[in-house]
Amino acid sequence: MFVYADNAATTCVSKTALEAMLPYLTDEWGNPSTLYAFGQRAAESLEQARRTVAVCLGSASPKEIYFTSCGSESDNQALRSCARAGARKGKKHLISTAFEHHAVLHTLRQLEKEGFAVTLLDVHGDGVVRVEDVAAAIRDDTCCVSVMFANNEVGTVQPIAEIGALCRGKGVIFHTDAVQAAGHLPIDVQAMNIDMLSLSGHKFHAPKGAGALYCRKNIPLYSFIEGGAQERGKRAGTENVAGIIALAAALKESCDRMPQDAPRVTAMRDRLIEGLSRIPHSRINGSLEHHVPGTVNLCFEGVEGESLLLLLDREGICASSGSACASGSLDPSHVLLSLGVPHELAHGSLRLSIGEYNTDADIDHILNVVPHAVETLRAQSPIWAELEQGKREHLC
Ligand SMILES: *Cc1c(COP(=O)(O)O)cnc(C)c1O
Repeated sequence: MFVYADNAATTCVSKTALEAMLPYLTDEWGNPSTLYAFGQRAAESLEQARRTVAVCLGSASPKEIYFTSCGSESDNQALRSCARAGARKGKKHLISTAFEHHAVLHTLRQLEKEGFAVTLLDVHGDGVVRVEDVAAAIRDDTCCVSVMFANNEVGTVQPIAEIGALCRGKGVIFHTDAVQAAGHLPIDVQAMNIDMLSLSGHKFHAPKGAGALYCRKNIPLYSFIEGGAQERGKRAGTENVAGIIALAAALKESCDRMPQDAPRVTAMRDRLIEGLSRIPHSRINGSLEHHVPGTVNLCFEGVEGESLLLLLDREGICASSGSACASGSLDPSHVLLSLGVPHELAHGSLRLSIGEYNTDADIDHILNVVPHAVETLRAQSPIWAELEQGKREHLC
């Protein structure tokens, strides 16, 4: 059996997205920047995609949508733009959170080296940023607040509308990395007072290689790729027309189907939580109160996350320990550490992220395999032996 439970890392391409993009790989492969009708048809399709994305974000204007190559690029451009605009006014302080994606954290680290000041907010034990903490961190020289919509490892959703209202009141630009939210949670950039928003097609059933940045009218946006005048001069490079068209089709489909899909995915996830939290000395990371439908993150004491993944892989289950981007490093996830999960426990974490394409049979398979795998690994673990003998304190 093959069970894909790593939708937070990437998703399959939907039939809708594939069918929407195919003509642009076969017959309609013109360059949108050319003047003849063949190119102009591609340009018009691109504008149609822009309108679709704008509508999915809650009455954004198509002029406020910029296509990029991925979520990371959108995050980089948003933060660097804010920083540059802020620096021009002598405002060189940015606020974000300790558990952002590395696309945000590493950009901020780079900006710090370039002379900016960065405050990273605590996400408390439940993985939720407090609006009061944001308010307390804003200074006279703050140019930007960047708080992710939903966390990619633990799935917690942040109080975006409240933070948006706060930032609007203070005249600070508010950016949100909505890569895990777009297509999975309702987004309204107007109602939520979002100034900039990043999303990525491959997290909602479009192919890899197309992303978007929403940037509100009158918020300065700078280009970091020099070249042609594509994307109204804000992002040079011939557009990934087929990828962008797939992104728009997939986003629309995900948003249209959200009322049916979200409860179904949530119910499957709840079955996972129900079954897996029965494993002794396990814990769920992050509050389940404000949460994306598909993601659950657990720790099993006395278990090495990587070893668990290998056992699951043998049973055909694709899952993750921390984020795909952090794997390969032996450090425990910065996200779990930011929630105050002890190092020893953070090493034994498992992220399951399911989606619209999973079935109840998939959940059954996971529920059959994981408890055995945990038991097998504990039987071989010197740490577990010490715990059993009372030589070590249980952490959960
Ligand atoms: C996947 C992800 C990104 C990066 O998106 P890419 O398109 O892979 O560059 C950024 N932020 C979050 C929260 C993500 O989950």
